[in-house]
Amino acid sequence: MRILILALFIWSSSIALASGIPAPRIGKYPGYSRVVIDLPADASYRVELNLLAMRVIFPDGIVVADLKKYKYPEFLGYTLEQNAESGVLTLVTPQGVTSRSGWRLQVLPPGEGKTGSRVVIDLSGAFSDTSPLGMVAPFVFKPENLARTFSVVVDPGHGGTDPGARGVVQESEVNLSVSTRVAQTLSEAGVEVTMTRSDNTVFSDDKRLDLRARADLSKGKDLFVSIHANARPASNAMTTYGTEVYYFNKKSQAPVFVTPANPPKLLPMPEVQAAPETSSSPSTAETSPSDIASDASVGDASVSASNLPQTNAVDATSTAPTSSNTTVEPSTETRPVAVALNPTSSPAVKGVDQTQRSQASLKAASSVLSNMIGATASLNRGVRTADYLVIKENTAPAILVEMGFVTHPIEGAQLKDANYLDRIAAGISRGVLEYLDNLPPDKR
Ligand SMILES: [Zn+2]
Repeated sequence: MRILILALFIWSSSIALASGIPAPRIGKYPGYSRVVIDLPADASYRVELNLLAMRVIFPDGIVVADLKKYKYPEFLGYTLEQNAESGVLTLVTPQGVTSRSGWRLQVLPPGEGKTGSRVVIDLSGAFSDTSPLGMVAPFVFKPENLARTFSVVVDPGHGGTDPGARGVVQESEVNLSVSTRVAQTLSEAGVEVTMTRSDNTVFSDDKRLDLRARADLSKGKDLFVSIHANARPASNAMTTYGTEVYYFNKKSQAPVFVTPANPPKLLPMPEVQAAPETSSSPSTAETSPSDIASDASVGDASVSASNLPQTNAVDATSTAPTSSNTTVEPSTETRPVAVALNPTSSPAVKGVDQTQRSQASLKAASSVLSNMIGATASLNRGVRTADYLVIKENTAPAILVEMGFVTHPIEGAQLKDANYLDRIAAGISRGVLEYLDNLPPDKR
């Protein structure tokens, strides 16, 4: 009898500890889907990532089994299941979730009349790694290349009276911002860098003359790197994002989806006093609710990209983090309309071995894209061919980087984020340096 009473006592106390977790509230916003979980005051949770699904586990939580389907571009639905000891919410996405991309998580204070905090999960394939880069280990050329001087032209696209693509951020500005970072990193590695512009001044207001003058700077140089951001018309701006790199080939080629490089090697941070160990669990993550809409209630259409959390997703108890959004089908869409890169259709420069130049350009483009995806975890849209003037009418191997889409609310906001621009620049620089380091011995 005593045992029975004791058993009943334990049973009832465990009931008292368990929390009823309500079904999540789901909302659709431009470029992302939002999942809000109203946590009871005593409830805890943790997050697991599994390729296409994100699982939110409530260790002591009790849920009522539920299943809902959605047809949002970033969210397909959820299931709520009760396991022996925990409630499990599974969120299914088409774009995939990795430890560095596809989602953001915020914990907000309780809503009015509630006692527990709100867990706000935003899902979008455009979410990339915006965490601070830290100090990247300097690039060191192979011993046989130490005596060589490599030369590169860095071309911040647009400028002057031509702002380039317009969206969350103005293209000409972000191009210059990243190009300046790239030029600095290349210089620090010993590369001789020429910039086509270092402020808003251009060679000519005549687009064609300006582009020619830029391309002409690469005579005798090892590589020409044009840096741009992309745009889409409103009809598909909310679903188009990611990184791509172009080169010129006489015959247009199918996109090449290079394997992402490892993220940049970082130097150990200098010891900072009383820096607490960062928790790996979002349930204890520090968040900044001021960054987000004061009310995370679903249905508040006023929530905009600028209200989105700026903190990076925390890798929780991730079971299978992958290197990138490799699950996304490559887009076959054609060029954006907002970018005038090719005002004339003119022949490639004569007297240059175009086949050799194409092959070298492809190598450079692959190296740069691979390192960019490694550094940012953004969507890999592949190495592509195009006949833009600056890469076509060029004497050196030439590539044109499209860093991301200024017209996507999430990616556009990221293109305003200094951390993200650092990552993009680190990827481009590393890609260029690796390309140079693998050039055949100089025969000049
Ligand atoms: Zn552009």
